[in-house]
Amino acid sequence: MPRKELINWGIKPLNIGKPARKRRRSLGIRERQILYERAKGRCEACGKKISFSEMQVGHKRAYSKGGATTLANSVCLCYKCNKLQGTDSFETLKKKLAGTYRKRSKKSKSRKTRKKTPKLFDIRLSKIKI
Ligand SMILES: [Zn+2]
Repeated sequence: MPRKELINWGIKPLNIGKPARKRRRSLGIRERQILYERAKGRCEACGKKISFSEMQVGHKRAYSKGGATTLANSVCLCYKCNKLQGTDSFETLKKKLAGTYRKRSKKSKSRKTRKKTPKLFDIRLSKIKI
């Protein structure tokens, strides 16, 4: 009796455990390569030369804020910049690097000294001639 027939039970590939269109967090290897080439092997935030294995993929628009994991929304970052970015957007990271990023403090609002210029409603009823 041929054994092969016993083994073939017609098992269907399981689809269980495959969540419907779950957002992915990182790029595929091919996309990472493209990203690395696009960035010319440099961190797009600080300009440091990095090797492909050092590259960290950052989100321009933070993943936590709905940013998609696509090439268009990705930036090539070094380890340090990726850490610095955290869950912020790429724009915020650049501000952090430039040293202009500050969490809004009360001091940033300059007091506006408003001088009330009296509005002149110079209507003199007494002068109206009837
Ligand atoms: Zn960097």
